Amino acid sequence: MYKKNCIKRRNFLKRSAFGIIGAGMAATAGCVKEPEPPEKQEEEPLLRVKEHRVLGRTGFKVSDIGAGSIQDEGVLGAAFDAGVNYVDTAEQYPGHHKTVGQAIKGRDRKSIFIATKLQVLEDKSKEGFLKRARKCLEEINTEYVDCMMMHMPEKVETLKTEGFHSAMQELKAEGRIRFIGVSNHGSFWFKDPEETMEKVLLAAAEDGRFDVFLMAYNFLQMDQAEKVLEVCKDRKIGAALMKSTPIAIYYSLKSRLEQLEKEEKEIHPLYSSGLERYREKYDRAQDFIKKYNLQNQTEIRDAAVRFVLDNPNVNTVCCLPKTHDELEQFLLLSGTKLKDWDKAKLSAYREGCGELYCRHACGICEPQCPHTVPVNTIMRYNHYFMAQGREKEGMEKYAAIPGAKADKCGSCSGYCETACPYNVPIQGMLLLAHNQLSLAKKLGF
Ligand code: SF4
Ligand code: SF4
Repeated sequence: MYKKNCIKRRNFLKRSAFGIIGAGMAATAGCVKEPEPPEKQEEEPLLRVKEHRVLGRTGFKVSDIGAGSIQDEGVLGAAFDAGVNYVDTAEQYPGHHKTVGQAIKGRDRKSIFIATKLQVLEDKSKEGFLKRARKCLEEINTEYVDCMMMHMPEKVETLKTEGFHSAMQELKAEGRIRFIGVSNHGSFWFKDPEETMEKVLLAAAEDGRFDVFLMAYNFLQMDQAEKVLEVCKDRKIGAALMKSTPIAIYYSLKSRLEQLEKEEKEIHPLYSSGLERYREKYDRAQDFIKKYNLQNQTEIRDAAVRFVLDNPNVNTVCCLPKTHDELEQFLLLSGTKLKDWDKAKLSAYREGCGELYCRHACGICEPQCPHTVPVNTIMRYNHYFMAQGREKEGMEKYAAIPGAKADKCGSCSGYCETACPYNVPIQGMLLLAHNQLSLAKKLGF
């Protein structure tokens, strides 16, 4: 069992603090009584997952609160100790396979459902996929993974990649993987605006070879995933969620703007109008947040998790606690029900701040950009940086974008913004994202 079970230890310390003080007082008073051994029940973690749901045709009972790509091995180990038993990882998450490998060490392997992913790259040969899949297993240091997913196929055609499927069949026959899955959070590139998450995942359901889906679904972005979730229920496809708490971006952008103001950086005039429009909505959201007492990010995040779990077609939601305290907050949500109070807060947040969220899995505006800037992809990389603690990865991915980046947005009329059906002040947000992801201070921030 993992030794750094901090939830257990910390709660034990909290609960036994008076006992320790009491023992100290007794000793000073000259009492020689043997100290009593700690109560047996303290051996178990105090907070545990309370609900499990069947992950489609895999038959595996997964915890409603799952683990996303948690970077801290101790936090992940504590999550397993508390009964979290679904963990999401990928070949592309730097170092994360090793973190999972460390955290599962010494545990009953069968009690944890590990899902990892391989992207379809240039080499589409069976041998290529086999080699990469075996490396994943080696990195995790496990005999098998429960699910090998195709990582974010950008179009329907990619789902049919023969090399991937024959490699998966061979690995299945060897007992190295148990199920096949697919993840998606929207079209990867502006060239395929028609290839939405909904279209790709519905085609994957039709294909029949994918047992588990990982998709983006949250209270600000429901339509696409809700249709897919219905099909998942009908076809017994496991449904895991990601990007379910779309509120961090507001708070992150808020602190970024505040930082820029504090530094009294002169903003380049080319950027002013885009940022101005962002600023206007941001100010309105601030007023709204004050009026409805929405200052507490945790309350809204909790309501957002309860919202997605309220959908009976959802099996598990991948959460990303960075600390033990955050993990405890997520664990407290397990098995709880969406309340009227949650609905009211979410609806207020949607009204006040909904326009500040560039929807994951969207991309509607991208065909309008004369420079072919991949708007939604850039905002996702910015999300990695700002909301998920994956700063380096976000910056590397941004640097690797082969075409135009968001520095183009400072000298543009904002065609994407006009095309956005959600009224997102995206030009200003792209400029902030560029500033963040390239750390291009020389550009005037
Ligand atoms: S700016 Fe609007 S249309 Fe463009 S990707 Fe974001 S949410 Fe979709
Ligand atoms: S602001 Fe202009 S350059 Fe930037 S993504 Fe939008 S349309 Fe393209």
